[in-house]
Amino acid sequence: MTTVAIIVAAGRGTRAGGALPKQWQMLNNRPVAAHAMQQFTDHPGVDQLVLVLHPDDIGTDLWPTSPAAEVVTGGATRQASVLAGLQAVEGIADKVLIHDAARPLVSKDVIDNVLSALETHLGAAPAVAVTDTLWRGAKGHVTGVQDRAGLFRAQTPQGFHLAPLLAAHRAMTEDATDDVAVARAAGLDVAIVAGDEDNMKITGPDDLARATKLMRQRMDVRCGNGYDVHRFGPGDHVWLCGVQIPHGRGLQGHSDADVGMHAVTDAIYGALGMGDIGQHFPPSDPQWKGAASHIFLEHAAGLARENGFDISNVDCTLVCEFPKIGPHQPAMKAALAEIMQLDGARISVKATTSERLGFTGREEGIASIATVTMVKS
Ligand code: MG
Repeated sequence: MTTVAIIVAAGRGTRAGGALPKQWQMLNNRPVAAHAMQQFTDHPGVDQLVLVLHPDDIGTDLWPTSPAAEVVTGGATRQASVLAGLQAVEGIADKVLIHDAARPLVSKDVIDNVLSALETHLGAAPAVAVTDTLWRGAKGHVTGVQDRAGLFRAQTPQGFHLAPLLAAHRAMTEDATDDVAVARAAGLDVAIVAGDEDNMKITGPDDLARATKLMRQRMDVRCGNGYDVHRFGPGDHVWLCGVQIPHGRGLQGHSDADVGMHAVTDAIYGALGMGDIGQHFPPSDPQWKGAASHIFLEHAAGLARENGFDISNVDCTLVCEFPKIGPHQPAMKAALAEIMQLDGARISVKATTSERLGFTGREEGIASIATVTMVKS
C-alpha cells in the first residue's frame, strides 16, 4: 500500500498581506508550505510527497526544495490542481492525503486520525465541531441565531482511496470548495475524524502572527556534542576546520584527518540522534581513504536540513600546542560556514593548549571538541 500526500500550493491568495501568496510567506525562517510538507515527510505512514504549484511559480526559487517532493503543475482552479496531482500518482498511490499548503501546523495526530479511518472508509477528513453560538447578521446587527448542532469546520488533509476519488474528480462538472464535496457528489461516504484547533489555515495577516506563536510552543531544540583525536605522523601540513596549515608533521587518519571538522560533524549527528561519522562513512570502506572531510560535514548538515532542523550555532575547540590556531580562525569559520550554508556569526572556532599536559601537551596529536544546537520549528 502506497500513501501519497498531495500538497496543494497553487493558490494565489495574498490576503495575508505582502506580495507573495500566503503559502510562500515566511514563518520562522521557512515558507509556510515547507512546514506543511515537513509534517508529511516526517510521518511514517506517508511514502511520498507531491507538491502542486501554480504555473507561474514553476522554475522560481519561491518553493522549497527541502523536504523533497515531486513537483506537478496545477490548473486554473483548486479542483483542476488537485486533479493534476491525482493524475500524477495514478498507478502509484493506493491512498492520497490532500492537504492545503497554507495549513502549516497540521499535527501527526490529525494525520494519524485520517489514515486510520481510511482503513475502514473510502474517504475521511478532519474537522472541529462548531462550539461558538452562530448569529445571522446584517448591517452590523444580529438578525437571528443559527442552530450549530451538527455543524463542523472542515480541515485538511482530506484522505481518500485514490481510484474512487479520481473517478469522482473526472465526473465532476461543477465547482467544489474541497475534495469532500467532490467525493460526496459522486456518492462516496466521507468519515469525519478529530481535527485540531491549531490546524489553522493561514488566510489573513493575524493568522501568520498566531501561527508563529503556536510554532514557538512546539519548537524542537536539540544539542549535540562531538569529540575527536588524531595522532601526529610524518607530513608537512595539517587540515583543521577546512584550512590547510603548514606544519612540521601531519595528522594521521583514514580521511584527511581534520579533527575539528570531524568533531563538528559528529556533534550534528549527535543532535539528530543519527549515529556518527564512522557509521555513515565506515573506515573499512576504501572509497573514504584520504577523503576530504567536507564530504562528511556536508552530509551531516544536509541530514539536519532534510529533517527540518536549522543549525543555530556551532562551537568548536581545538586542543593543541602547535600549530598556532589564532591566525587561521577567520578562514576556519568561513570554511565551516560555507560547507554548512550557515551565517559565519553562528560559528565559533577557538583553541586552547593543555598546558603541556597529556598527549596534546606532548604534541603527540590534536584533540577537538564541538557543540552544536539546532532548532526545528
Ligand atoms: Mg576523526
